[in-house]
Amino acid sequence: THFGFETVTEAEKRERVAGVFTSVAESYDRMNDLMSFGWHRIWKDHFVASLNPGFSPLSSSSDPRSPQHILDIAGGTGDIAFRMLHTAHVLNANPSVRVTISDINPAMLSVGKQRSTSLPASQQAALSFVEANAEDLTRTTPLLTSTSSPSPVPPQEIPSESVDLYTVAFGIRNFSNIPAALREAHRVLKPGGVFACLEFSKADKFPLFNTLYKEWSFRAIPLIGQLVAGDRDSYQYLVESIERFPSQTEFRDMIVDAGFVVAGEGYEDLTGGVAAIHKGMKP
Ligand code: SAM
Repeated sequence: THFGFETVTEAEKRERVAGVFTSVAESYDRMNDLMSFGWHRIWKDHFVASLNPGFSPLSSSSDPRSPQHILDIAGGTGDIAFRMLHTAHVLNANPSVRVTISDINPAMLSVGKQRSTSLPASQQAALSFVEANAEDLTRTTPLLTSTSSPSPVPPQEIPSESVDLYTVAFGIRNFSNIPAALREAHRVLKPGGVFACLEFSKADKFPLFNTLYKEWSFRAIPLIGQLVAGDRDSYQYLVESIERFPSQTEFRDMIVDAGFVVAGEGYEDLTGGVAAIHKGMKP
């Protein structure tokens, strides 16, 4: 393949992924719309609606709605976190829900932080940004902004059993060690907490559609990347990483291996399997 990933080490993959997202951070949101014809918005809306953060069946004033801590891993420029806050605070009128956006890449987080300034103040106050590798959540650092003090902050651990809902959207296929990330997800979740992943998947249940989809991915996306973002290689990498990611059932089995229980098949296909949602509960 383009980068010959089969022969690279985990550290090398990490470095390449870092390079890709530093290079695409500024154009990331626009490119998502172009490459998916806006579908990624529909998938993200559906993902968040299906999780319904902040919903509590007991809603009388004597039953204050339960606080929830959502950890949005590989949260990038904030698409999932902002939707979570809107659903919880506005639609479910539960302002006690807070969201931590965590990402390995400070350039992506900075774009997210900048975007978050247009949210209502109460939602901004419920957001925090941390830099962390999803494979090791024992060492996170708050995102340094140009106004923060330059003195290095010691890494902090996301405590075990401290998170109600762990989300990862279009992130996990970039991880060098997916089982390690699933173990960390399991560690930080409370018993009864939910792991939820939205990721590109296999559309091979409909062969004709799959052929067209592959043509689009392998020919058009790198070209759009070159023309719009001036960066063919990064978008070529994105397409190849989708191709290498395990199938719906293989990934479901990895989630089960990490100690989660799944309901039914454990996943839901979106747009014929172009993307899929996987969920698991920590027993
Ligand atoms: N979740 C956002 C969304 O749906 O728009 C961003 C998705 S973006 C395609 C993938 C993100 O994964 C990038 O921001 C990248 O920095 C992050 N990432 C890659 N490897 C990571 C790792 N090992 N740990 C944490 N984040 C990682």
